[in-house]
Amino acid sequence: MNIKIPLPASGGLLLSYKCTAACRHCMYACSAKWKADWISEEDLVNILSQLAGKILPSPYGPDNIGLSHGLHFTGGEPFLNFELLCNALEIASGFDIPSVFVETNCFWCTNDETTREKLLTLRGKGLKGIMISVNPFYLEYVPFERTERAVRIGTELFGYNAIVYQVEYYRRFKALGIQDKVSFDKYLQLENRTDFARNTEFFIMGRAPYRLTEELADLYPRYPAGSLVHMPCSPPFLRDWHNHFDNYGNFIPGFCGGITLGDCRELNDLLKNGIDLEEYPVLAYLIQDDMLGLLQFTVDRGYMVNGDGYYSKCHLCVDLRKHLNAVDGFKELKPDGFYSNLA
Ligand code: SF4
Ligand code: SF4
Repeated sequence: MNIKIPLPASGGLLLSYKCTAACRHCMYACSAKWKADWISEEDLVNILSQLAGKILPSPYGPDNIGLSHGLHFTGGEPFLNFELLCNALEIASGFDIPSVFVETNCFWCTNDETTREKLLTLRGKGLKGIMISVNPFYLEYVPFERTERAVRIGTELFGYNAIVYQVEYYRRFKALGIQDKVSFDKYLQLENRTDFARNTEFFIMGRAPYRLTEELADLYPRYPAGSLVHMPCSPPFLRDWHNHFDNYGNFIPGFCGGITLGDCRELNDLLKNGIDLEEYPVLAYLIQDDMLGLLQFTVDRGYMVNGDGYYSKCHLCVDLRKHLNAVDGFKELKPDGFYSNLA
């Protein structure tokens, strides 16, 4: 059976998986341990030229941004390679890609002058906005003063196109008088534990099930595999919005780190030809939302079901894929570094 991939209307391009942080919730298992395999300029041109004309602008126009509109440069931490980020913006502008913004953990916002200078440089190269990441996991790695600086100067330069994700955590950090970095354990003492995820978005996928829940195990129930397998993926596995493209040429569906739909350097061919499910058994199960089938397929290859259960369907999914990636080189389970950097 052959399945067509929806035309990507928005998304993020990972310049690399290398990061200054190793957040417990990272969907793409990024960290400082990754090799600095920055995307090449040739691949940038290839991918961006094929995204041009497909990426749709924010409903407020191409000079404005939205989390699920336009294109964002991300990682890993894109400001680790400022020169490459500048080049990427110039190339995207050359192809008229609308609503382009950058996502950052703000590690580089050490003083006002540098922060303003870098953002002005990027604005001159076509940057329309900035997404500033804020939650207790970043706080373990980035002093809050740097985040506050990025919000202040980002707002000064980009107005409403400086987005704080998530603003509820920013509000709470201010109310708690947070300064410097704060360990997650310490944060849970400052915050009301049971309120930890109140009014915020929190996906237990990627690294989160392996690194986060030690401290929160009492708050998050686990479910037997059998009770998760019939739940649909939410949002859907194949969709046109907020997909990702990485520095190895992987077309990552949505937020599902460690999976590739094919080579985004050959995006037009991929969209035209679709995916031959015979060739990609893991993708076949995921595209058909058949988690029971994937579970059985993985058990047949030596997987032992966790008797303690799983925090979410995505936890079960990533655990099955981790096992499959270790026992066999499934082409659709890429990059390998995702699986080796989960814990
Ligand atoms: S969540 Fe962001 S800042 Fe944290 S490790 Fe992942 S890419 Fe880096
Ligand atoms: S269950 Fe797997 S395929 Fe579905 S959304 Fe979660 S990580 Fe993605």
